[in-house]
Amino acid sequence: MGLLSLGTPLHWNQSKKHAEHVRNNGISQLLISHEISKNRDNDKFYWGDEIEYIMVNISDENNDEKSLKLSIDHDYVLDNLSEDGKNYQKSLDNEVLFHPEYGRFMLEATPLNPYDGTSISDYFKVEDNMHRRRKLAIEEIENPNVYPLTLTTYPLMGVKDFCSPSAEVNGSASKSLFLPDEIINKHVRFPTLTANIRRRRGQKVAINIPLFKDINTRSMDAIDESIPVRDLFPYSDNEPFLNSKNPAAKPGHIYMDSMGFGMGSSCLQVTMQAKNMNEARYLFDSLINIAPLMLAITAAAPVFRGHLADQDVRWNVISGAVDDRTPFERNEEPLLNHPLYGGHENNSENVKVNMKRIPKSRYESISQYLGGNEFFKSSYNDLNAPINEEVFNRLKSNGFDNELSKHFAHLFIRDPLVLFSERIEQDNNESMDHFENIQSTNWQTLRFKVPSQDSKPNSNKPGWRVELRPMEISLTDFENAAYSVFSILLSRAILHFRLNNYLNISLVDENMIRAHHRDAINKDLFYIRTNINDNNDEIIKELSLNDIFNGSNEFKGLIPIVKEYVEIEFKDISKIQQNKLNSYLELISGRASGKILTTATFFRSFINNHKDYQKDSIVPESVAYDFCKFAKKLSEYDSDSVNEFFGPKIGQFLIENKYDSIFRN
Ligand code: ADP
Ligand code: MG
Ligand code: MG
Ligand code: MG
Repeated sequence: MGLLSLGTPLHWNQSKKHAEHVRNNGISQLLISHEISKNRDNDKFYWGDEIEYIMVNISDENNDEKSLKLSIDHDYVLDNLSEDGKNYQKSLDNEVLFHPEYGRFMLEATPLNPYDGTSISDYFKVEDNMHRRRKLAIEEIENPNVYPLTLTTYPLMGVKDFCSPSAEVNGSASKSLFLPDEIINKHVRFPTLTANIRRRRGQKVAINIPLFKDINTRSMDAIDESIPVRDLFPYSDNEPFLNSKNPAAKPGHIYMDSMGFGMGSSCLQVTMQAKNMNEARYLFDSLINIAPLMLAITAAAPVFRGHLADQDVRWNVISGAVDDRTPFERNEEPLLNHPLYGGHENNSENVKVNMKRIPKSRYESISQYLGGNEFFKSSYNDLNAPINEEVFNRLKSNGFDNELSKHFAHLFIRDPLVLFSERIEQDNNESMDHFENIQSTNWQTLRFKVPSQDSKPNSNKPGWRVELRPMEISLTDFENAAYSVFSILLSRAILHFRLNNYLNISLVDENMIRAHHRDAINKDLFYIRTNINDNNDEIIKELSLNDIFNGSNEFKGLIPIVKEYVEIEFKDISKIQQNKLNSYLELISGRASGKILTTATFFRSFINNHKDYQKDSIVPESVAYDFCKFAKKLSEYDSDSVNEFFGPKIGQFLIENKYDSIFRN
């Protein structure tokens, strides 16, 4: 988790005056920490995962009173289990840590200590640790109907009266027509972040996700009549329809107007430590094109705001949900009668001169390789990634090479979004807050994590790390462990075989688009470099996920690469460990080949086959209820559910290796 400073957060109008100060001092902090840790070497390959949960209230299965709500009054769970909380000791005893997240209905949990990626036994601690996190959360929740699901998006988010307890939709932080501010984490940072994104942008965020067209779906040309008409915030409330030529709410789309639709979704992340900075740069670059593949294979989000979408993942929803760019920066016309030029006075020519067009939201796929190795060519960086020239020059004149300077100079085109008045002045020798303020609000598919100033060479403070961030959260700990372990073993294999995974980065963006598509597993091809063992000109092929993961004549396959690495590196693997690893790889292989449905495809067919679904692309509460009930049973490894979801082979494995007794029955 990034910053959670306590204090008085500044309104955007105040905070923007300090933007340059934050950037300048943030770069000073980066320079100081870089100077201290640039020569760190031989750090251990530590790694850890992060799991996010959504607390749902699934009422008892009494047919008359079946109800499903998003639970927003159990945030004490986090207080109790986090540092200084009354049950923190329980977290420590279970070797887990709980962290705050954007939603008041969300929990995030990680292992207490990272794992050692060079020790085979550590790979088999992760699933057990995930079980303990879920179990601890379940025990801490007082209401037996409330359950922490690892659901990527809450399907009824923003659908009338979806919270428990009920909350009125009238919040001034988001000004949303759908989401009450009560869903936002109470810590003042989060409502401020929500409001300041809106203020900087000059209007509410506007997310439009293509609607899935079923036989009874409303006209794709008409305005969505489920958008409430309200007259509470005079300007904002009219936004969806304000500009008839270019309305904020696009016909044929699912319109969403608030940060919670994106930042309220859950994902799986893994962070790993490289032995030194150069290795971290190489690993970062090697994973850039792995990110869209992992997004596609973990696809788990076919429903937004109670509507079936014509896409399967959350990514672009979050991207839109935190898009603080002004209309000018986005290269779009402002909405009619727009009073501000995106948080800046419209009439100032000066503003226009100093403003840049910015092709991407703060939440997006990586736009530049870090380079610094024998395989990198500058021509691979073929995207327009604007940079902060001043930051670039300063870093270059302080010993950063071209690509590293560009990386940070690109992140530093953004303004800080939340600033606490008590934290404006900082000791740059001690604090990384100004740096992190910009760094950790650039939410990209990968993050290049920088050591702090106290991270002297070979101290036990974290070193140079790479975080892989695209994956959707899966319904079971088994799947989340499988994807975590696979990502780490693949990273280890890349380092071990020193693979060359470079291709033009614009192709990675194209892969990100395809990863969103409905049923991308069966319907899409992805760009991949097939000659990963040499430094010749790249051979680029468009292959299916099946060919990429399982291998084909043209490409060895990511799973075979992992298997070969494990054979070479972990000769001491036990039979039980090998069986477990096989079950993980079996899952990923099955998903890639389409034999095991992705969560998104499964959810879609669950809806389609439900008696209450009217084939109109609208997901009734009863359907969402039954799905959440199913998801709960699945996460407890109920026999019928695992067989239905995974098929008999993995189903049987899970039933035989079930973690008995840890769940409340
Ligand atoms: P953030 O939200 O900023 O990504 P978190 O603290 O939530 O950070 O998660 C960081 C992850 O990194 C955790 O899984 C943690 O176990 C892991 N981790 C901690 N220290 C190291 C380290 N030195 N090297 C690699 N991973 C680490
Ligand atoms: Mg975290
Ligand atoms: Mg998180
Ligand atoms: Mg993280």
